[in-house]
Amino acid sequence: MAVKQLERDLWLIPGLVNVYILDTQDGLAVIDTGFPGRTPKILAALDAIGKTSADVRHMLLTHCHPDHIGSAAALQRATGATVWAHRLDAPMMEAGTTMRQPMCASPGWRNRILAKLLAGKVARVEPVKVDRFLDDGESPAFAPDLTTIHLPGHCQGQIAFLWARHGGVLFPADACVNRRGLTLPVGTEEPQLALASLDRLRRYSFDKICVMHGKPIMRGGGDQLRATHFDTFKKRKP
Ligand SMILES: [Zn+2]
Ligand SMILES: [Zn+2]
Repeated sequence: MAVKQLERDLWLIPGLVNVYILDTQDGLAVIDTGFPGRTPKILAALDAIGKTSADVRHMLLTHCHPDHIGSAAALQRATGATVWAHRLDAPMMEAGTTMRQPMCASPGWRNRILAKLLAGKVARVEPVKVDRFLDDGESPAFAPDLTTIHLPGHCQGQIAFLWARHGGVLFPADACVNRRGLTLPVGTEEPQLALASLDRLRRYSFDKICVMHGKPIMRGGGDQLRATHFDTFKKRKP
C-alpha cells in the first residue's frame, strides 16, 4: 500500500523508513523523507490523497541519518517546503554527511549483524539546507499543537514530536522502533544517553506512537512504552 490514512489529518507512507504527512494549520508537513530516491513515491502518495506538491509547506527532519534525510533535498526542490531540524544535526544535513562514527550496535546478534551490514552503506546524501531550528520544548509556528522533544543518544540532534491531537501522537524518531513490540534501533551513538532519552519519553502522555521503523501503534502506545524494558548496553570497551 503506497499511502495509508491513519487519522483524518495524518497519513503514513510505509517503507523501510516511514514517512508521515500531517495536515496542519499551515498546509501539509512531512516528517522525514526516506532514503535517496523516495521523492517520486512521496509525490505519488500526495496525489493519491488528493493533494499536490504545493500543499507541502513544511518538512520536519528528525535526525541526520541517510534513511531519514536521503530524499530531503529532492523533496524540498519539488515542494518548496521550509525545512526544520535540530541545530546539532543541521550542519551534517547541510554537508550531506549522515553518520557520526562509530555507532554502537544495540544488544542482540540481529542488531550486531545489521549494524555491520549497514555501517557506512550510505555515507553521503544530497545536502539539504535547514531553514529553521527546533529546540527542545519548542513548537513550530505552523503547528502550535506539535511539541519538539530533543532525544539525543541514537543521534546527537535527534528530535521527536508530540502532537496534541487524537489523544496524543508521539513521533519518536529512532529513539525506539517497532519490531513486534517496541525495541531499540539497530545502532546508537551514545547508548546511555539513548536509554535516558527513552526514560524521558515515558513521562509524556500519548496514545499513539508513529515509529519511523515498523508499524505505527495506534492504541495504548503510552502504556506500551512504559511497560517496555529496553535492553541495557554492555559497557563500551575503552
Ligand atoms: Zn537513525
Ligand atoms: Zn532510521
